[in-house]
Order: sequence, then structure tokens, then C-alpha cells
Amino acid sequence: MKERIKLANPIVEMDGDEMTRILWAKIKERLLAPYIDLALEYYDLGIKHRDETDDAVTAEAARAIRRHKVGVKCATITPDANRVVEYGLKKAWASPNATIRGMLDGTVFRKPIIVSTIKPAVRSWVEPIVIGRHAYGDLYKAVDCVVDKPGKVELVYSPADGSGEVRLPVFEFRDDSGVVLGMHNTDRSIRSFALSCVRYALSERIELWFGAKDTISKRYHGRFREIFAEVVAAHAAEFAAAGISYRYLLIDDVISQMMRHRGGLLWACMNFDGDVFSDMVAAGFGSLGMMSSVLVSPDGCFEYEAAHGTVKQHYYDHMAGKPTSTNSVATIFAWAGAIRKRGELDGNPGAMEFANKLERAVLDTVESGFVTGDLLGLVDPPAKAKASTDEFIGAAAEKLERSL
Ligand code: NAP
Ligand code: MG
Repeated sequence: MKERIKLANPIVEMDGDEMTRILWAKIKERLLAPYIDLALEYYDLGIKHRDETDDAVTAEAARAIRRHKVGVKCATITPDANRVVEYGLKKAWASPNATIRGMLDGTVFRKPIIVSTIKPAVRSWVEPIVIGRHAYGDLYKAVDCVVDKPGKVELVYSPADGSGEVRLPVFEFRDDSGVVLGMHNTDRSIRSFALSCVRYALSERIELWFGAKDTISKRYHGRFREIFAEVVAAHAAEFAAAGISYRYLLIDDVISQMMRHRGGLLWACMNFDGDVFSDMVAAGFGSLGMMSSVLVSPDGCFEYEAAHGTVKQHYYDHMAGKPTSTNSVATIFAWAGAIRKRGELDGNPGAMEFANKLERAVLDTVESGFVTGDLLGLVDPPAKAKASTDEFIGAAAEKLERSL
């Protein structure tokens, strides 16, 4: 029996719901506990415990991430009216991810997990295209209205100190009805976003691209471009030391270049672009079960998770005693990401090496043709049969054991 790797500082562990909670326990038992002493600080974000604590546990977990800098989170239910009934909840609590993101002022980066046997829809993509989405403002905090009779629409800014009011004509409706929209963002939010992108690019040592449309929207999009340039300039020495660069491009130029790019970069997106293009990139790379995600705060906290949800239908099957074939790859990668980051921050090469071997074991399992149902139609050469949830984790555990 080899000696277990020890961590000097805690990883904040956030347990979750449904099928991913089942995966969570199996991953810890089969892939982690035998090899590494994780010094975990445990928070149960399962829906029952959030309800019992009036959701205080979510805020406690976010504060713990701020303290320890590294967390790993299982997927959780964001309750709607149906879930309130299903789980007998006091109310429809807020999304834990939104609460944690708000408290850490962080940005979510989604990164596809690449295997040689799944060919991306875009032939040139060989390395991950990571998308960072600004998750505040623009269209998502806009006011809009329908104009159904003639009249003038203006944008009015009234400074709180009573100084000169600004009035800008938006449009004068004369003989047609229509729609208008007003939206905003704040320098602080844009700066936090830019800083999180800089942190991520430095952490992964990959190029940073930001695309907007400042030729048309000179002030609004122009402000984003300016702030990005300032934040990057303040980290120029670190970029040079890491051997990475920053590029601003027009958003349409980003799109056309991305379709011919090999990947291996961070694409920072304004809110709407991130909403749309993250789904395009995810679909282009294959499956939700192969998409990892990390929340990065401007002051350098990292929270890892899978991008998918709790895989509800698989959980209902599991509870009904039926076999399941749920993909655990993204959840295992979340653990590997947290362990590697902990190792990096603590100067613990053993932990970093373990994280690499854990990822390698999982990728080798998939590449050897041993896959869960979601990947069955995607892998080439085709797999003969689908592995159950347990069989997949068991096969990865065997490969890991052999590699250590
Ligand atoms: P989901 O859990 O992402 O699953 C949607 C569908 O995608 C599944 O039914 C399954 O398709 C497929 N899928 C996703 N992950 C998979 C995996 N690991 N292995 C195999 N197939 C996978 O979304 P949902 O079922 O709509 O949502 C369930 C709950 O998750 C909701 O309560 C929602 O609030 C929550 N959620 C949480 C997070 C988070 O915590 N980060 C994110 C999103 C959603 P098939 O059924 O066709 O096999
Ligand atoms: Mg979307």
C-alpha cells in the first residue's frame, strides 16, 4: 500500500443533489480516498440541507472559498415551483451558483474536456476553446418597452449632484409602432470580469481574446475594450513571464477566426455573446458530460464543478432500481482541477501529479472505448456497449491504480 498524498491546506467541498450526489460519493470512495488525504472542509449544499438552514449554508460555503481559495462543487438543484412541491421546501431558494458567484464577484469559465476519439464538429479544433462569460448587465438587466403610438423616445441621465442633465434622442416614432431598449453595465463589474479573465489566462497559460463591436458601439462596447486594455496592461509583466498574449478583435472577426483556429485559448465574451457562443462551443465539442467549469474571482479564488446539472432523470431511474449510465468525467475533472490548484498554491508537486494522473486515467478509459451512454454515438471507433455509472468509475479506478 502506497502512502497517501497529504494536503497542507483545505479544499472546500460542496456536496449537491440527485444523480451527481451519487457520483460524488462514488468518486470520493473509488478515486480519491485510497490515494489522497484531502483535508476537506465539507458543506452540504444538497437541497434538504439548504432548506433546513434557510440557505445559510450556501453563504457559509462561499465564505469558506474566500478563506481557503479552492473549492469543488457538486451540481445542485435550483428549485422552481415543482421542486418546492417535490422536496417539500419552505421556498424556492436562489440558485447556489448565483449566490456563490455574487459573493465571490467571480466569472465562470467553461472548458471542454477533449478526447482523441471524439472529433469536434469543427475540424480545426484540437485544443479546448474556453469561454468566459461576463455574467452581469447588458441585455440581462435591460428595460424595454413597446411603442404603439407616435412619440419621441429619449435617454435621460440625471446626475445625483444636480449637475447638467444629459438627454439623447433615441428615436422619434412618427407613422410606425416599434420597440426600444435601455441597458447598462458598470465599470466595477467590467473590471472584475477582465481581472478574472486575466487570472484564468495566467493560471492556464493560454492566450486571452476579447471581442466586441466598438466600431459601432463606440462608447458602450468601447468602454469594455478600454477597461480590458487597462487591466491587461497592469499585468503585462506576468503575461510576458507566462509567455502569453492578449488580443482585442471585433466580435465578427473572432467568430471567423475561431472556425479556423486550433483552440487552446480563452475567449472572453460580453454577456449575450457568452450566452450564445458557449452553447455553440459546447455542442461543437460533443457532450455536456464532457464540459468542465470553474468560477474564478478577481482576487484569485477558484471553484471547480461540472457544467451540467444534477441529471435528474438518471436519478429517478437510479431510485427506481434501474441501471444508469451517467457520465462522471466532468465531475472527476472538477476534483482534479481543485486538487491541482491546491497543489499549485501550496507548492505540493505530489498533489499536482496525482491530479494529472487522475485526469489521464479517465481520458484513457474513454479513449479505450469504455464509455457511458451519452458518448456512445459520439466516439470513433464506435464503442461496443455502454458502461454503467459504476463500471465506468471502476474502470477509471483500475487505470488510476496502475498509473500510481
Ligand atoms: P442536466 O442535469 O444538465 O441534464 C440534462 C440532460 O443532459 C440529461 O437528462 C442527460 O440527457 C444529459 N446529461 C447531462 N449531464 C449528463 C451526464 N453527466 N451524463 C449523461 N448525460 C448527461 O439538466 P436538467 O436535468 O435539466 O436539470 C436537473 C437539475 O440540475 C435542475 O434542478 C437544475 O436546477 C440543476 N442544474 C444545476 C446546475 C449546477 O449546479 N451547476 C447546472 C444546470 C442545472 P438524457 O436524459 O437524454 O440522458
Ligand atoms: Mg445559452
